Amino acid sequence: MVIKSIRDLAIREKRVFIRTDFNVPMDKQGNITDTTRIEAAIPTIRYAVEHNARVIVASHFGRPDGQRKPEYTMEPVAAKLAELMGIEVTFFEDCIGMGPQQMVREIKPGQVLVLENLRFYPGEGDNDGAFAKDLAKLCDVYINDAFGVSHRKNASVHALPLLMETKGMGFLMEKEITELGKLVNFKHGDGFTAILGGAKVSDKIGIIRSLLDSVDALLIGGAMAYTFLAAKGITLGRSLVEKDKVTVAAEILKGAEARKVRLLLPEDHIAALSMDDTETQVFGNKDFPADMIGFDIGPKTVKKYAAEIGKAKTIFWNGPMGVFEKAPFAKGSVALAEAVGNSEAHTVTGGGDSVSMMNKAGVASKIGHISTGGGASLEFIQDKTLPGVEALKE
Ligand code: AMP
Repeated sequence: MVIKSIRDLAIREKRVFIRTDFNVPMDKQGNITDTTRIEAAIPTIRYAVEHNARVIVASHFGRPDGQRKPEYTMEPVAAKLAELMGIEVTFFEDCIGMGPQQMVREIKPGQVLVLENLRFYPGEGDNDGAFAKDLAKLCDVYINDAFGVSHRKNASVHALPLLMETKGMGFLMEKEITELGKLVNFKHGDGFTAILGGAKVSDKIGIIRSLLDSVDALLIGGAMAYTFLAAKGITLGRSLVEKDKVTVAAEILKGAEARKVRLLLPEDHIAALSMDDTETQVFGNKDFPADMIGFDIGPKTVKKYAAEIGKAKTIFWNGPMGVFEKAPFAKGSVALAEAVGNSEAHTVTGGGDSVSMMNKAGVASKIGHISTGGGASLEFIQDKTLPGVEALKE
């Protein structure tokens, strides 16, 4: 079962539907504050334009919950796309029905039409067949370039490509699958190290279980580390613990031991009375005061984790080591980002937090691959595929 690239498909004069992830951050004044996601899809859109396709671009934006909410219109995103590409882009205020069908008939080869937010219809999130059929009426060729949403069974990334005969992936999607695909067949002894952080263990149980079969070392940080420490009988004051996940954490610790995976947990912590405190103190696992909360990994832990990073041949990192958005609790994440950036290993990281951590540490350019998908990259490594990828197979 193969997945075709847009390069392999006859698109000249065809109506080519490109699903992008244009879910960009926007400030209260309606300004797009980061255009990375738009820029990431431009090579595919430009390729389609240069090959004289009739280009239809569709995406979700924000969480309008299946309703037409003006604050989530794609219109400013379409304008930004036009500006970045230096071409004219037509926007249409709907994504299904007679209006878009008429517009698609009118656009000429080489022109771009951006449709309204797919999530204005509940059918998108519900992976609804009828909604997908309405979208299918707009196109001859389907291209998925929205890796960041391809772990979700949404109509435009799942039901729609299943209906389409001529389909494939865009350049961004192709790069993501190729890069993340390099991480899914490791065996113990291959020098694969994973670093996992963030707030919740519950979000990461699946990936941790699957990584135990391939990594040599697993470095855990962020609030999720406290649930693992709790499973070892270590309580750290008022630090965040997911009580209902302590048993699963204990099972994971046992699984790591059985497979001889070096699962590292923090030995010291940057603590404060609240997240807004600027005064912090460092405590170990034994002397942690009952009234304090851990918000970052401490210097001893950084040293130990950095030494492990130095041994790795390949590194995957997802999730911060602490509340890195706040300067007093960013040191652990930044120090590890520096270690990862300066290591000899092939490094891969994913998700919005990871990008800003690498930028804070000034090492983004040294990272082998920064995935545009947080949840999607985790699910891809866990399952070796995604629903949106499967739906592209012929
Ligand atoms: P996630 O979305 O699960 O990757 O979690 C990312 C969030 O975890 C970030 O916003 C961090 O601020 C937060 N986080 C990391 N460490 C801690 C901690 N020790 N206590 C509270 N929140 C944390």
